[in-house]
Amino acid sequence: MRRKVIAGNWKMNNDLNGAINLISGIKQEVAVKKFDAKLIICPPFTSLETAHELLKGSNIGLGAQNMYFEESGAFTGEISASMLKSVGCEYVILGHSERRTIFGETDEIINKKIKKALLAGLKPIFCVGETLDEREAGAAFDVVKRQVKNGLVDVSADEMASVIIAYEPVWAIGTGKVATPAQAQEVHAFIRAELTSLFGEKVAEETVIQYGGSVKPENAGELLGQKDIDGALVGGACLKADSFIGIAVNAG
Ligand code: PEP
Repeated sequence: MRRKVIAGNWKMNNDLNGAINLISGIKQEVAVKKFDAKLIICPPFTSLETAHELLKGSNIGLGAQNMYFEESGAFTGEISASMLKSVGCEYVILGHSERRTIFGETDEIINKKIKKALLAGLKPIFCVGETLDEREAGAAFDVVKRQVKNGLVDVSADEMASVIIAYEPVWAIGTGKVATPAQAQEVHAFIRAELTSLFGEKVAEETVIQYGGSVKPENAGELLGQKDIDGALVGGACLKADSFIGIAVNAG
């Protein structure tokens, strides 16, 4: 049985004080609520080191929201995998649709980042998902297949043990429009079948595939109750401790 994994993508929200407050709220909720899911938080770079200190002794994982694929050098404004490791990160979100659409990241760039993260010992949370136009054109499965395949070029079956995939239909991110449980399950099963053809059945069965797109405590139970939905990547609802933990509580 795959354990449910709930990751909070804070995006560009919370300065250092805000981060300290939110982590303190999350820890208070965790102390009084019952759930089995694994939690990960992904604050902005500027709060990672403090978050790492504050999370010591808890089971909450720490992730970054992006990184660059080069080791070091003249890449103004970028952050390397080893820098993330040095401040206590275990995870890194890669290929988020906002990185793809606003910052022009291609499948090839994302693949380089995934390989570099794995080499450095970071666990990628690798995001894929179609836009509304692509879904309406009937291309959702082709797009997701291309993103999965191209993003995982030269990643080994062994390395897949460290990869989480997040299916995030772009039309459901931050819009309040949630994919129906059936719509999400259909794509998750498709991704798992794609993983079977790329890496074999064992890897496909063991890979955690999260759903992302307007997940809230109220819809988490039904979405995460689907056979191939192993958790959630949460944006808006992770910025309040009670709703973030409410998702974990309802995750089953
Ligand atoms: C996200 O950006 O990864 C996300 C799922 O956002 P939201 O939950 O706000 O839709």
